[in-house]
This record gives sequence, C-alpha cells and structure tokens, in this order.
Amino acid sequence: MRVILLLILTISISYTYSQDSLLLKAQVANSINELQDFVAIPNDALNANDIQRNLFWLKEKFTQRGFNTAELETENHPLFFATLPMEEGKPTVLIYMHFDGQSVDPGKWNQASPYKTVLKQPIENDFETIPLETLKDSIDYNWRLFGRSTSDDKGPIVMLLNAFDLLKKEVKTLPFNVKVILDGEEEKSSKPLPTAVKEYRELLEADFLLIADGPVHSSAKPTVVYGCRGITTLSLTTYGPVKPQHSGHYGNYAPNPGFQLAQLLASMKDTEGRVTIKGYYDGITISEAEQNILKSVPDSNQAIAEKLQFKSAEKVGSFYQEALQYPSLNIRGLGSGWIGKEARTIVPASATAELDLRLVPESDGNRLKKLVKSHITNQGYHILDHAPTKEERLTHTKIVTVLEGSVTDAFRTDLDNEYGDFLVNTMKQAFNEDVVQIRIMGGTVPIAPFINELQIPAFIVPMVNPDNNQHSPNENLKIGQMAYGIKAFYALLSTTPN
Ligand SMILES: [Zn+2]
Repeated sequence: MRVILLLILTISISYTYSQDSLLLKAQVANSINELQDFVAIPNDALNANDIQRNLFWLKEKFTQRGFNTAELETENHPLFFATLPMEEGKPTVLIYMHFDGQSVDPGKWNQASPYKTVLKQPIENDFETIPLETLKDSIDYNWRLFGRSTSDDKGPIVMLLNAFDLLKKEVKTLPFNVKVILDGEEEKSSKPLPTAVKEYRELLEADFLLIADGPVHSSAKPTVVYGCRGITTLSLTTYGPVKPQHSGHYGNYAPNPGFQLAQLLASMKDTEGRVTIKGYYDGITISEAEQNILKSVPDSNQAIAEKLQFKSAEKVGSFYQEALQYPSLNIRGLGSGWIGKEARTIVPASATAELDLRLVPESDGNRLKKLVKSHITNQGYHILDHAPTKEERLTHTKIVTVLEGSVTDAFRTDLDNEYGDFLVNTMKQAFNEDVVQIRIMGGTVPIAPFINELQIPAFIVPMVNPDNNQHSPNENLKIGQMAYGIKAFYALLSTTPN
C-alpha cells in the first residue's frame, strides 16, 4: 500500500512538473501566433490609423483575459489602459509597455516585410530562414522571430497576455491589483504622457510601476533596472573672419575659430575624461552597499575594451557601472571648414561643437547648462544666443553662440526599495539565477517625466534578448525569451510580496 502510494505520489509530482513545462511550451506556441498577428499591424506612430488598429487588437486581447479596458484620450494618440477588477487591501502594480515601433526602411530588412514575421535559426555568425510551419512540429528556444517590434515592445505585451492565460489555467488568485498602461508613441518621445498622468492620476494610482521594455543585461541574466539617465544638449559655435579667408593671406592674423573651440572644449575636461568645471559632479554620493551592487554587475572591462577597441577607459568612475552614476559631458559632433579630400587652405569662418549631457537625479540639466555657460564666460567669451552681428563681432574679442536643448530628466528608484527587493527575489527564485541589478542605465527613456510625475517607485524589468537589433532593421526576438517573459510575469504576478 505504501509503495503504491509512493508510486502515485512520484507519478503525480513528475506529472505536475512535466505538465508545468508542457503548459509553458504550449503557451509559448500560442504567444508566437499572437505575436505574428500583432506584428502584422504596422505601428509607426506617424500613422494614426495604424495606432488605432493596434488599439483595437489590444482591446480584444485584454478583454479576452478578463480586463476592463479603456482608451485614454491625450493631446495626441490615445493611451491604452486595462485593469482587472480591483480588490481592497492588495497592493497595485502598474505595468507600462508600448505598442508603437520605430519607423522602418523595408529595403534594409532581410525579409519581404518588417511587418510579416519570419522564423530563423542561428547558423555560424548568421541566421537562416526556416518555414514558420516548422513550429507546428517543434519549438526550439534558440530560434528567433524577425519583425518590427517583436522585441521592442510588442513581444513583452504578448508575454504578459500569455502569462495571464497560464495564471488562469492554474486558477491562481493574484496577490496584486493589476493595471496596464500601453503607450502608442514611445518611439516618438511619449510627449502626451506627463500631462496624461495629471489628467488620469486616480486611474493610474499604484504602489509601484513595472516597465517591461528594453533588453536584459548583455550577460543575458535576469535583470532589474532602477533608473536611467536623463539628457540635455548644448551647441557651441565660435567665430573667425565673417567669411572663410585664404590661409596664406590671413593665417597668423585672422583669429581661427577651430583653435578657439578646441581650447574652450579642452578647458572643460582633464586628460582622463573628468569634467573640471566646478560643481559639475556635486551632490553625488555612492554608499558602500550601492557600490557593492554596482560591482556585482557582471560587466567585463576587458570585453568592453575588446568590443569597442580602445586601450584605456576614461576615469570618471573606476569601472563601467560607476562611470554611469555621474553626468557626462560628451562631444557628439564637431565641425569646421572641410576635411579629407575637400580640405581647403582657408581660415574657416566658424567652428561648431554639439554636446550632449547625460543627467543623473543629482544633476539637474538646467543647473549643469548654467555651470558650462559660466565656465565659458570665465574663459573670456561673450555668449550669444544667435549668430553675431557685425557690431557684436567688432565689439568682442571672443564670441560663442550657445544654443540650449530641452531637458529630459533622469529617474532613479532607491536600491533598497521593498518592491525592488520583491522583484529581485522573485526573479531569483523563478530562474534560479542571480539577478543583475542596474542602479541607473546610461541611456534615456522618454517616460522619465511620466515616472517622476507619478511619484511611485519604478523599475524596468526587461524581457528580451540583448542582441535584438532594437530600432534597427532585422529586429528579432529569441523564442527562449518569450518563455522567459511569460515565466517572469507569471512569477511576479503570482508571488505574494512580504
Ligand atoms: Zn521600447
């Protein structure tokens, strides 16, 4: 009797286990079909009709999963909002994703249409197309689906939908209230979002925000990102003679704008890349606990150097993650006269440097721009916001035109936030792997103002492969990441936070 009982127990355990992975695989198969359907609807936010068709698709899919849905009108495209019936006493998670995609240049894709999903398998350093029907017999997690927004960001939306199917099949009661907000113009800077928060604040009220966009860390390990840098820009132009002059006639006499600009730029940084403008790094402190998390990110200085091909990194931080904790001052473009075969024997009329400043929460963009400008003044320059007139040229020895770009703020949630701990621990258990915690990522997401307006802890939980060609031709999603995303959402939405 005992033996039989044991046998039954063993059978049922192994049955549940294999059933579990079978269930997941079946869900992956379903999600592949749904993603193909979804990708087939073009999603360039420049076309309002396409965005509308996407909204229609979303409404149907979320309604099928028991959500109440609404289109939230904004000053441009509507936002898609979905919520499950709210229950008192449960914490609320707000999930943000976007369904628009970057514009496409179909000629640059290795397939007939970026909106018609193609299945490929990896071969040496490349991919080879295989018929989609192959998926009916078997699914290989190394295969990939190619098409616009397979990764950025329709894939994760489909993963969420399918995680709900799994949760339903297992009749799981969710420990959360779930709200979903889907943006239809993220790739066009999400301009209506911050105002929309003001208008729909009550609807969007939540305990924390989970953003499923962007790729996991390059190590492909589960990743939680706590923030991202902001950005602003400056354009600096110095002036020589009003028109380019013969360098034989006027070299040594007419002031050279290239040298002026070079000296000005060189005065802003030391030879190891650190900004020397007073106050630029003010307010930034990194605790020991934070430092340890920065160090735990499995980046390899060696691998970065190998990939980018340089011997020594700049010394703003002593390693990559540390460097990202500070605002940057970057020359993104530089020009004067002509170069290469077109080089001419002239004293050029002007020289221009385009700068971008990546921001962290401690470094307000307007404050940094002010610091740079007062540094320029201290170098003896007269600053203008326009090209100089003849009178201005004759009055001032050194003139620079400074044009300022707008500021997109950074956002960053504390590393010791309780929901952050919940996300990290849950992912760690679900995947039996250490979770990469990124305190702040280098790039800028346009939703930072939205996050800052909501004033709730926000986390990016990326679902897709790091080599997905996001924003480029031949965007793709590894099928294994589909399983990853479904599993991640499943775990996060069915685990009770402490
Ligand atoms: Zn995206």
